[in-house]
Order: sequence, then structure tokens, then C-alpha cells
Amino acid sequence: MIQFHNVSMSYQRDMAALNDVTLKVPKGDFVFVTGPSGAGKSTLLKLVYAALSPSKGQVIVDGQNVTRMTRSQIPLLRRSVGVVFQDFKLLPNRTVLENVAITLEVLGWGKRDIGKKVHHILRLMGMEHKINATPLRLSGGEQQRVALARALVNDPKILLADEPTGNLDDENKEQILAIFREANIRGTTVMVATHDRRVIENSHKRVIILDKGRLVEDNDVPKQEL
Ligand code: ADP
Ligand code: ADP
Repeated sequence: MIQFHNVSMSYQRDMAALNDVTLKVPKGDFVFVTGPSGAGKSTLLKLVYAALSPSKGQVIVDGQNVTRMTRSQIPLLRRSVGVVFQDFKLLPNRTVLENVAITLEVLGWGKRDIGKKVHHILRLMGMEHKINATPLRLSGGEQQRVALARALVNDPKILLADEPTGNLDDENKEQILAIFREANIRGTTVMVATHDRRVIENSHKRVIILDKGRLVEDNDVPKQEL
């Protein structure tokens, strides 16, 4: 579902944020990406959702070569990829309903279908009672569940999350991770960047470790193959 072939990415000359990274994430996998601050975790995720393109190498996502993607092809890729962030990135002046509906509006869904689907996903997230609230009225855990509803409402093939539990307490972390597991069980490939060791250790999933832009460990791949 996601392939990196010898991918390097430099924001500035001679400063590789990612350095010769090769990895494969098959359909239905659940992987954590971890490593110290500045290791390249966010950069790696941004390459998957085509917010960046690599300086070297190839990135293939859902059969599409992101490296050669033109601006007009990016929206098609984004249909397959839901993304959530540590700071949620909800629109503060829109309601919960409107924040989640946006995903389907840009895909051209009709109003009635949007209403049904948004109510359904918010019910799954335990947020239906807050449908008319604006994000600032919600706790951090609630905001993250709305962000997850927005990312998952169109049943994306891939869910990406960048430090999704960074601002949350243990109970909210557990709720968010349960939603990731549920999406994964229903077939979504999940990739989560986090430096939260407890989250990783309690989950028993594949872990990719980055350090200074290099892939230094992947517990799915025997060491000699790295
Ligand atoms: P992580 O998510 O693991 O903390 P990042 O992918 O954000 O790491 O950053 C990797 C490296 O790239 C760091 O050295 C960081 O300073 C640098 N970097 C990230 N974003 C930018 C940017 N927009 N411009 C210049 N350098 C950047
Ligand atoms: P938690 O500690 O579980 O993350 P909070 O204690 O922040 O949550 O919030 C508990 C409840 O109070 C939540 O349902 C939240 O929506 C509501 N709430 C929190 N802050 C506000 C606010 N400023 N205005 C209205 N409701 C709020």
C-alpha cells in the first residue's frame, strides 16, 4: 500500500531530513514510526500524503507514484488517505458536523448522503451529542475524535497520524488508539508517528525507528536486510 524506494528528502541543501529510506507497508498493516525529535517522522508522513515530494527516490502510495504526481493528481490521492495531527487542525468557527462534512463536500457527495454518513461516523466516535458544538467547546480528546471522524468518514484506504496522542491524557489516548485499531480491523492501513513509548509498547505492532533521517530499525524486517 505504501512503498519507499531509496527516498531522501532535503529541505535545505546538504541537510537530509530523510536519508535513503526504503520500506514497504502492505495493505492492512498497522505501523508505528518513532525516533527522536527531528528524526524525520513528520517528513515521512508528509511524503505519503504528497505534502512534500522526495528529493531522491520513489514514493508509491496505493499504486500511484507520488514522486511524479502533478498538482492536479493530488486530490485523487487524498481520497485514499485520511490524516490527523497532534493539534487536530479543526476549523474553529465551524461546528463538529461541518468540520466532518468537509471531507465529503470536496468529494462532491450530495447533502442527504453527507448528513447520514457524518451522523454515523460521529456516533461511532461517541461524539453525536456534540454535533452542533464548535471545537473550542470540546476537550482535547473530543477534538481528536472529531478530527478522526473527519479523516475516516470516507473510509480511506490509509490513515496517517502525526503525534495524535501528544496532547492527551491516558484515558483519551486509549480511546484514540482503540479507534485506530478498529479502523485497521476494518481494512484501513494505519501509520502513526509518535515518540510515546508507552503507546508503542502497549500496542504490539510493527515499529519503524528513524534517527537523523535514517531508518535504523524495523521490527518487521530482519536486521541484515536493512
Ligand atoms: P520529526 O517529525 O521526527 O520531529 P521532522 O520530519 O519534523 O522530524 O524533521 C526532520 C528534520 O527536518 C529536522 O532536522 C527538521 O529541523 C527539518 N525540517 C522539518 N521541516 C522543515 C522545514 N519546513 N524547513 C526546514 N527544515 C525542516
Ligand atoms: P477531559 O479532561 O476529559 O479531556 P474536559 O474536562 O476538558 O475533558 O471536559 C469535560 C467536558 O466538558 C467535555 O464534554 C467538554 O466538551 C466540556 N467542556 C470542556 N471545556 C468546555 C468549555 N470551554 N465550554 C463548554 N464545554 C466544555
